[in-house]
Amino acid sequence: MLKVGFVGLGSMGIGMAESLLRAGFQVTVYNRTASKAAPLRARGAIVGESLADLEGVDVLCTMLSDDASVSAVCLNGGALSLPLRPGAVHLSHSTISPDCAGSLAAAHSSTGVHYVGAPVMGRPDRAAAGALSIIAAGPPEAIETARPAMEAMSARIFEMGEDPAMANFAKLGMNYMLACALAAMSEAFAMARKSGIEPDAFLELVTGSLFNAPAYTVYGPLVAHEVCETPGFKTVLGLKDLELAVKAAESIGAGLPMATPIRKQMKTAIESGYADRDWTSLARMAARSAGLPAKPDPDSSKTQNKDR
Ligand code: NAP
Repeated sequence: MLKVGFVGLGSMGIGMAESLLRAGFQVTVYNRTASKAAPLRARGAIVGESLADLEGVDVLCTMLSDDASVSAVCLNGGALSLPLRPGAVHLSHSTISPDCAGSLAAAHSSTGVHYVGAPVMGRPDRAAAGALSIIAAGPPEAIETARPAMEAMSARIFEMGEDPAMANFAKLGMNYMLACALAAMSEAFAMARKSGIEPDAFLELVTGSLFNAPAYTVYGPLVAHEVCETPGFKTVLGLKDLELAVKAAESIGAGLPMATPIRKQMKTAIESGYADRDWTSLARMAARSAGLPAKPDPDSSKTQNKDR
């Protein structure tokens, strides 16, 4: 049985680590904020006090926020700083830029540690259920070594070849499409509601006819009722992904022009106090722009009242 390490127990990482424990792996976890690891100790995880405690794992999963945090944890002056032995596999699950993935892959290659880009699709509930989609790219033998761990965390693994950065291009393409869907839904629901249509009636039409896919069935109910208090995916991370997608597209001479108005709307949400709320805050922004009255916010202390 593989020994698995897990670094980054945020909204996604905690559920992913739980899935690995459920599958019977020996799992050693580490998180910068130590208190977040406590629930996993009760479920059988070994809780590391520092990264050094991950030495000896066969597969190390990282689920950190962004390029800066992944680089801070994994690199020291451009060299790999993870305590992994040659032959071990690093599954890098964060949504990061293809450039950052390239730097990480280069730092791993000289040490004999394998780097696999393995960003995921699915929100924290899917992570907790072991039902994510994983987009994997890296050396085939490393993917095979890590496959049992990936299978424990996912419903399906989509492979994108041997260059780890391809997994990140694919993930950013998916998140760009999702951002467009979320922005379009936010505006269309605001229009429908302003016209006098009940949000649930419009939701039934959307998901029961042309748009019966997870992007709409998962986000539709949240958009219909402006639910964004509990952050499944924070608005600030949504903006991070949109900006990464634009930069990645520009780096290869492609363009994502529809990103411009969506980025503006996300920035408005963040300036209005929704940075750490779910990125369905876009629906709230669109509803206020359409002149719909605000609903009472159950946690109004965290937001400014610009939308009231
Ligand atoms: P999150 O809840 O904000 O968790 C971020 C994690 O990164 C925490 O464990 C945090 O540690 C750690 N971290 C951040 N900066 C660090 C640093 N400098 N050094 C060490 N640790 C650091 O984020 P999340 O929602 O789990 O998302 C994680 C990644 O998955 C992101 O790249 C996101 O884009 C991607 N993703 C998210 C979703 C989603 O629905 N949430 C879906 C697919 C992909 P602390 O606890 O100490 O702050």
